[in-house]
Amino acid sequence: MCKSEINIRGLSHTYLPGQPGERIALQDINGDIRQGELLAIIGPNGSGKSTLARHFNALLLPTRGTVTVNGLSTADPANLWEIRCRVGMVLQNPDNQLVAALVEEDVAFGPENLGLPPAEVRRRVDHALSMVGLSDLRLRPPHLLSGGQKQRLAIAGALAMKPSCLVLDEPTAMLDPAGRREVLESILSLNRQEGLTVILVTHFMEEVVFADRVWVLSEGRLVLEGTPAYVFSQREVLQKIGLALPGPAELAWRLRVAGWPIPAGVLTLDDLVTCLEGLLSKTGWGRP
Ligand code: ADP
Ligand code: MG
Repeated sequence: MCKSEINIRGLSHTYLPGQPGERIALQDINGDIRQGELLAIIGPNGSGKSTLARHFNALLLPTRGTVTVNGLSTADPANLWEIRCRVGMVLQNPDNQLVAALVEEDVAFGPENLGLPPAEVRRRVDHALSMVGLSDLRLRPPHLLSGGQKQRLAIAGALAMKPSCLVLDEPTAMLDPAGRREVLESILSLNRQEGLTVILVTHFMEEVVFADRVWVLSEGRLVLEGTPAYVFSQREVLQKIGLALPGPAELAWRLRVAGWPIPAGVLTLDDLVTCLEGLLSKTGWGRP
């Protein structure tokens, strides 16, 4: 059993409590995020995803309940430094996160502010840039990068702080399909090759299929959780709260309803093609 990285107990969050505009954003969330896993968090707009994500590195504090990171409560100001070092955050718009005139300076910004010796800063910058495939662009001004490159740079900036966990709040929302793919590949390789715990908030269902586990939020509550195969088997529940299956899973479902023997758990285009080829070859319609 993997160790837990983040534990959430009875977490509720209310914005502007007792004031006009009061808004309950999270209600009684419980769960554990395990070391080294890739957890996807999905839910319709306003369901509380960003609010939850901001609790993981103490950008927000619980109105009720607790969040602990490696056993340290986010509510104790004495833990803030260590929690911010352990849990890195990447937001939706990379332009809001890039601060320096050159790519390498941007990545160096965090470690320099930690007061680390220049040799260590350099080591961290080199490593972070190579992890997101930007080493060759280190002397380029960030504003000349593509959207996908900018977001990978923002990820490198977070990595240079040597976190054990990376929280990404809709990091691909502003990107074109190529940029989205680049960023997703970087995220997957950080999780799989570097063993980083990754919490990915996304509304792209195609990204969710790569996760180990999925949490589904609706109106501030955690309403469904499990593997992607399980969560996407709950089509009606998802539909009720305004979410759709990934395209290939929806097509598989419709074919199944129409009587085709498509097994459960078909989530990706590759799964579906393999499955259809198998079926067609049995009917003599296989590849020539
Ligand atoms: P999501 O990321 O799933 O779209 P959010 O966590 O941003 O959802 O928002 C959850 C709820 O909290 C929404 O109703 C939103 O309007 C409200 N909310 C978010 N941020 C604030 C804020 N700073 N002040 C007041 N209400 C907020
Ligand atoms: Mg959000």
